[in-house]
Parts: sequence; C-alpha cells; structure tokens
Amino acid sequence: MAANSQHRELKGAGRDIALPPKRRDGKYILLGANLWELRNLVQQAGMPVFRAKQLFHWMYHRAALSFEEMHNISRVFQQWLEENCVLGHIDIADVRESRDGSRKVVFRLADGKYVESVLIKEEDWYTLCISTQVGCAVGCTFCMTGYGGFQRNMTRAEIVSQVMLVKRAIHGELPRNVVLMGMGEPLLNLDEVIPALRVLVDPEGTAIAARRVTVSTSGIIPGMKRLGEADLGVSLAISLNATSNEVRDVLMPINKTYPIEGLLEACREFPLRPRRRITFEYVLLKDINDTLEDARRLARLLMGIPCKINLIPFNPDPNLPFERPSEERILAFQEFLYRKNYTAIIRYSKGVDIGGACGQLAAHWRAAASQEK
Ligand code: SAH
Ligand code: SF4
Repeated sequence: MAANSQHRELKGAGRDIALPPKRRDGKYILLGANLWELRNLVQQAGMPVFRAKQLFHWMYHRAALSFEEMHNISRVFQQWLEENCVLGHIDIADVRESRDGSRKVVFRLADGKYVESVLIKEEDWYTLCISTQVGCAVGCTFCMTGYGGFQRNMTRAEIVSQVMLVKRAIHGELPRNVVLMGMGEPLLNLDEVIPALRVLVDPEGTAIAARRVTVSTSGIIPGMKRLGEADLGVSLAISLNATSNEVRDVLMPINKTYPIEGLLEACREFPLRPRRRITFEYVLLKDINDTLEDARRLARLLMGIPCKINLIPFNPDPNLPFERPSEERILAFQEFLYRKNYTAIIRYSKGVDIGGACGQLAAHWRAAASQEK
C-alpha cells in the first residue's frame, strides 16, 4: 500500500482499536475491512502482522470465497479465521443473459432480500453496475426501484461481494468500470459505500482505477460534500432529469429538499481531479422533459461545469405512468446539445428483454419470493 494511504488509514483509525464489524453471532465480517482493521484482527489472533496483508490480497485481489482457498496462510490461522470470522459473501440466485450480451446477476442476501447487478460487455472490457441499498427511499416517479420503496442499506461486505463474485464469474477478469447505478441511492449509505469503495480502488486491493468507478446520485448535496472530502478520486454522476424545479419536484421528490440551483452549485464545488468531468444523466420522458426548450435550458444550466451528458431514453414499465419519446425527438435533443458543444451520448438501457432495467429484475424476484411464502 502506498505510504500516504497507509498514513490516512492510521490517522482515520483514531484511538479505538478499529476492527471489522461483527455479525449477530459475534463473528467478524471481513469483506469491506481495510488493511488497518485486518492488522488489528491478526494481532488479536496472536498472529504475525504480515498475515493481514496476505488476507487482504486473498480477499480483494484473488476474490477468495473461503479461508480454505488461502493456501499460503498457516493452518492454525485458517482455523482461527473459520472459528471467529466470515468473509461475508452473498449468494448468486440467478444469472440471465440478454440478447444484447449483457448479464443480470440477482443476488440473495443473508436475510432473504434480493438485489441485482448488471454486467455489460463493451468492446473488449466489462462495465459492472452494482446496487448499494435494498430498494430506495428517494421515490423518483419514473424508477422501478423507487416504486418498490426502501427496505434497508446494504453493508460494505454486500457491496464489495457483488464485485468479487462477478470477477470470479468472468474467470478472474476485473471489470474495467464499476458504476453505482443499480438499486439504491449510494449517497444515503455513505457509511458503508465509502469503506467499500476504498478497498475496491486500493491498488493493493481490488485495484479498479478510481476514475473508472462512478458514483451516481439523485443529488444528495451533503453526501456529495462528504464524498468529495473522502478523496477517493472516483467519478461523480448526477441524475438531473429535468431543467426546472417545477418538473424535477414531480419526477424526483428529493428536489424539494435539494433544488437544482444548490445541486449545480455543489457540482461546481466538487473537487474534480484535473481533466475529469461530471456526468449528468437525463432520462428522456415523452412530453415531460424532452422538448428543445428543455435542451436549451439544460445547456444553459450546465454552462461552465466540466461535464458530459448521458441521455437515457425512458425504459417503460406497466407500473410507471411515462412513455419513451420518439427516436426523432431523442436525436433532436442530442443534436441541440452537440451544437452547444456538449458531449451528449444516448444510452439505451441494457437487458430490456430480461427485465433488467433499473430495479425490474429484483422486483420480479421479490414478487416471486413473496408468492413462495
Ligand atoms: N440512485 C442513484 C443511482 C441509481 S439509479 C441515482 O438516481 O442516480 C441509476 C439511473 O437510472 C438514474 O440516472 C436514473 O435516472 C435511471 N433510471 C431509473 N429508472 C429509469 C427508467 N425507467 N428508465 C431509464 N432510466 C431510469
Ligand atoms: Fe432511487 Fe435513483 Fe431510482 Fe431515484 S432514480 S428512486 S434515487 S434508485
């Protein structure tokens, strides 16, 4: 580990002896723990300190599923780990492959709840979209996750496990991009999201390039400040979706707490690394936010912010009262932004044929599970 990040961890540990969180039965849950916490644990076990680094490497680099797999760790320590700790992996309940080549992975958590990840095969790399909460409390009116309501925060172990299990499933290959755009609002779960991201971007951990990790938010301003202060170097995406407070209040009720002006000010203040840009996501909804007047307002609002715009044609669902605009409208919206010198890319949701759009697949599983009961 680089000297400065080690220093940060030492500083962050405070006076208490930081240890990984415990499960109800008293066992430590290791996934999501940093090297400092593992060192304290190893010392508690009476083992030499270098074992912590081995454990760290096995957990985050090799994506080990059991202590038994960790063959260079002594038998005595393995036994101690078996008795006192769990890795904290979740279960893969189902994998579905879409016609467009993307794969949806449905995970079952220890308490029987379901979340999903989406693995998208790009030219010659993977992008992985992970969840951070079971459901979502923000309640955006165009989103199936919001429609299902909020159940609970995911733990750091559950967040990290999604990446590790997918890495195993693609034969040890590391997804090049990881986006926090699955179920949930990551900035309402920063106590778990920040430690999870730290080990995922740690060069001696999972080693995903920090700039290729994107945290997407509906615009939780205090969370944006805290994420900036955590200094992880990850990228930020804002789900803007409207160009007036009047419309945004209806689409995203969180706008009443954090309206557009304050949100864009927080974007301007976000500590971006050199040559980096904020992504603005804009779900295009027929006759709601898809006119050239909207495009004009959008161009004006984003002026001066280093950014790119993702235009996402709405993914319909029978439960949601919106429609997708015509292809012509979508292209005209993009064209307008181009002319104003914005980078605007149209992004169709992947895996639509397998119910993969935001929250739909886990919603199906939830429904199936409630029928089973
Ligand atoms: N809660 C965070 C991250 C998860 S949502 C956020 O809102 O940013 C990821 C993206 O999916 C958001 O940009 C959201 O606007 C978009 N989305 C949600 N429902 C959608 C739908 N039905 N069609 C298209 N995009 C949708
Ligand atoms: Fe939550 Fe994001 Fe869906 Fe809004 S769009 S309900 S914030 S997951």
